[in-house]
Amino acid sequence: MALPFQTLRPHLLRTFGVPVHRVALDAGSDCPNRDGAKGRGGCVYCDVEGSGTGALRTGVDLREQLERGIRRVARRDPGGGVIAYLQSYSNTYVEESRLEEVLAAVEPRLGDPVHCVALATRPDTLPDWALARLARLNARVPVWLELGLETADDRILFEINRLHTVDDFRDAAARAHAAGLEVVGHAILGLPGDGREGARRTAEVFAETGVEGVKVHNVLVLRRTQLAAWWRKGRFRALDPETYVDWLADFVERLAPDQVLHRLTADAPPEERLAPRWDVHKNAIRERLAGELERRGTRQGSRVSPAGTGSAGSSDS
Ligand code: SF4
Repeated sequence: MALPFQTLRPHLLRTFGVPVHRVALDAGSDCPNRDGAKGRGGCVYCDVEGSGTGALRTGVDLREQLERGIRRVARRDPGGGVIAYLQSYSNTYVEESRLEEVLAAVEPRLGDPVHCVALATRPDTLPDWALARLARLNARVPVWLELGLETADDRILFEINRLHTVDDFRDAAARAHAAGLEVVGHAILGLPGDGREGARRTAEVFAETGVEGVKVHNVLVLRRTQLAAWWRKGRFRALDPETYVDWLADFVERLAPDQVLHRLTADAPPEERLAPRWDVHKNAIRERLAGELERRGTRQGSRVSPAGTGSAGSSDS
């Protein structure tokens, strides 16, 4: 049965003609929120690995990380393709020569089996030279730029120590689009002070900016973070699964109908995660979301205006 929202797997099959699988790579990039250029300590929810694999710090160079990933994919799905995913920290917050080195490790495997290169970065660390280099790569395989917005509220972006603005995100998405790249926007629901209205506003910014893909998940409280201290003091509570699905349905209704949902949940090892303690499998969240939209009689895009610049229809809460 067709789901009332766009999911990644059929999109990948339509785009590449074969199933493709992400291989996460750690290029050892840094982050301006950690090295003092913008701030120190990082975003309140980010652990010291920068949401990454930490592979480079274990001594595995990028080429070897990619080759190991390719072998894993070949064992799991012979004939499947690969998305080379530069995940950790801010991958365009590097010297020009370093980005060149990183891409040189990936480029020999383009086409077979690397069908796509995805890079995560911050919207305020996207220099023109990096966009121009990625545009050249994009002439060979699709390049997806994953940009963190997290919430569409400047006050909360400041309070959670992200230290960029919503307009930084708008500007970065527009420049990436002008360079011919696809953009995947990243959002977190349930950030301190954001609430249900925050979930709605964030989706509206994604619809307005026309990002092609969306990643969204609930806040996880990880052990080695500032948020863990807030949670221990009772300053922050993680969402229960029912509330998350409810807000997620609001969020999805406000996306444009063709934006592809790359993810709806986040994972973290149980020994690293303090809250929430619920473990609902990603397939179950997807089914609950479909059930909630069906109950409401809505679907992805039901509450977005035709111009994609705001929600249509009345609020249901
Ligand atoms: S910008 Fe990314 S890597 Fe840097 S502290 Fe925030 S979440 Fe972590």
